[in-house]
Amino acid sequence: MNVPRIGQGFDVHAFGDGDHVVLGGVRIAHDRGLVAHSDGDVVIHALCDALLGALALGDIGRHFPPSDPRWAGADSRVFLRHCRGLLQDRGWRLGNADLTVVCERPRIGPHAEAMRALLAEDLGVGRDAVSVKATTSEGLGFTGRGEGIAAQAVVLLVPAS
Ligand code: MG
Repeated sequence: MNVPRIGQGFDVHAFGDGDHVVLGGVRIAHDRGLVAHSDGDVVIHALCDALLGALALGDIGRHFPPSDPRWAGADSRVFLRHCRGLLQDRGWRLGNADLTVVCERPRIGPHAEAMRALLAEDLGVGRDAVSVKATTSEGLGFTGRGEGIAAQAVVLLVPAS
């Protein structure tokens, strides 16, 4: 039964008024914000969904309902650390996570290392287990028109012992 488990996650948030976005736990100055009940961190939301998916425990909306006032403006790192606890409680650890951020702006590259460091810290793994990649969508679709940011995540869980 101790075969590895894979999970994938996807999230989108729309741009709205604001002067920064939070991606992978990193605050990035920007001329727009992301519309969300929490801090709108699409990277962490996709990562949490991948972790929950690998555990077959539903999705982030089930664990942190947007209707719950406790999560208004929440730091999404709280969600991530909660997911880490869930997988540890069940005898798993993160093998690796691979994340892709899709947007035209802001530029992700200059912040990718900081994201990796924060995410690895919250997940209790080395930085080499967390990959943060970025792409544009070549001007196509909602990300191409600058209407929002999308993120995808894939994780592999391995038995902790
Ligand atoms: Mg979200």
